[in-house]
Amino acid sequence: MIRAAILTYHAIGNPPPGDWPTPVRTLFVEPALFRAQMEALRDFGYRGISLRELLAGPSPARPRPLVLTFDDGYRSFLTDAFPILADLGFHATVFVVAGHVGGYSAWPFRVPILDAHELRELAHSGIEIGSHGMTHRSLRDLTESERVFELAESKRLLEEIVGNPVESFAFPYGHEFAGAETLLRSMGYGVACSTRRDNRNTARDRYALHRIMASSRTTRLRLRYYLSRLYHVEASWKRATRALRGLQP
Ligand SMILES: [Zn+2]
Repeated sequence: MIRAAILTYHAIGNPPPGDWPTPVRTLFVEPALFRAQMEALRDFGYRGISLRELLAGPSPARPRPLVLTFDDGYRSFLTDAFPILADLGFHATVFVVAGHVGGYSAWPFRVPILDAHELRELAHSGIEIGSHGMTHRSLRDLTESERVFELAESKRLLEEIVGNPVESFAFPYGHEFAGAETLLRSMGYGVACSTRRDNRNTARDRYALHRIMASSRTTRLRLRYYLSRLYHVEASWKRATRALRGLQP
């Protein structure tokens, strides 16, 4: 089922004014660099697709798929990423914080979030709209009924806006929680993205898919490494050593 690597982006453009730490600043990728990254993928033979297309299975139209995801639903996706993706014939999944549609982010910087009209426009142009919860709170810290609200209400709201089923979810901050798969399945989600790093997934990872974090430091060379077998081996090794440490007293 799932054979493709998944890249994670956040915002396109410059960070808002402020003394942001490097991990926040590098979430903002300037349009010229974003174009260079997308052209590098094309040159490597990849075609950007959405998670929905990935789940639909292999297609001759997508011989070497690579999933592009954009977390949070920033308006810069429409103004700065979408025209570049459209030029290259790429698709993507945008994970929207449903309670902030038409407003601003607050985690921690303040930048505009896509509005309902823009979301509909994107959905009609081959972009998949997924849910990133209602409020961008970590689901790990919430009660069961708060989690249900975040998952169910965001799905309902986004489906009402775009007129399509919303079946993909991304955990805010990558924070998974015990029982997430059962809850997500029961609500009609078909897939969920974590922020665990790797360029491979198996059917077992369907509700905690590994992704690769793209940033303003992602050069063409680094992209090649991220998509290589070496990166997978290193990521698997890191996971295994972390798990081992967790088992030790
Ligand atoms: Zn987020």
